[in-house]
Amino acid sequence: MIEVIDLVKNFGTEKTFITKVLKGISLTIETGEFTTIVGPSGSGKSTFLNVLSTLIKPTSGKVLFDNVDITTFNEDQLGKFRNKTIGFIFQNHHLFSELTALENVMMPADIADNHDKHIDHGKYLLDRVGLSDRMNYKPAHLSGGQCQRVAIARALLLSPKCLFADEPTGNLDQATTHEIFNLLEELNNEQKTTIVMVTHDEKLASRVNNTITLIDGNVIN
Ligand code: ADP
Ligand code: MG
Repeated sequence: MIEVIDLVKNFGTEKTFITKVLKGISLTIETGEFTTIVGPSGSGKSTFLNVLSTLIKPTSGKVLFDNVDITTFNEDQLGKFRNKTIGFIFQNHHLFSELTALENVMMPADIADNHDKHIDHGKYLLDRVGLSDRMNYKPAHLSGGQCQRVAIARALLLSPKCLFADEPTGNLDQATTHEIFNLLEELNNEQKTTIVMVTHDEKLASRVNNTITLIDGNVIN
């Protein structure tokens, strides 16, 4: 379970230049849930997701993962925590252009010097996202939707408890958006991975267990 308690994020240091982006958010995300975050552009969705997923530190407030406050972690603890607990997908797939689909998927294991332990799972995941016949293709020879599938497989390689996604279908057409969303729903059901996804597609967003609406740095119920 993720518990967010009175989360505040300001950017800037000089008093006159402080931008208040998250204005005291409190909420709970249950383990295994698929949660979507919606709201107008600039409402703080990415900032909120980045704080939740440990990419940036909040100004104040707590984020508890199974009762442990991750906002107090040092870099060492954060590194271990991210490796074990968290997967990311972004709007841009951020694949390495010189690596094949499988090599991209294996990246997290290779960094941890754990290739052999995870290679079967890497192949399984690429098969699971529908790319068993594209494992040796480089990103330039894959469509945008296929690249995003590779990014999803990579994010799931080390079996994270929680997958964070920031507008993962933002660059994709409607049909591909639905495919990717369906895939994430299936993976959420099958693997019980908690998913927190920012999307501007309110129709899709409302299909899942839990939707958080952010307006100007506050949660609207
Ligand atoms: P959303 O994802 O909902 O579009 P963001 O979280 O990206 O919104 O941004 C919310 C607000 O915070 C915006 O006004 C943006 O300009 C501001 N902001 C985001 N990141 C920074 C930063 N690093 N420094 C200063 N302001 C920022
Ligand atoms: Mg954003």
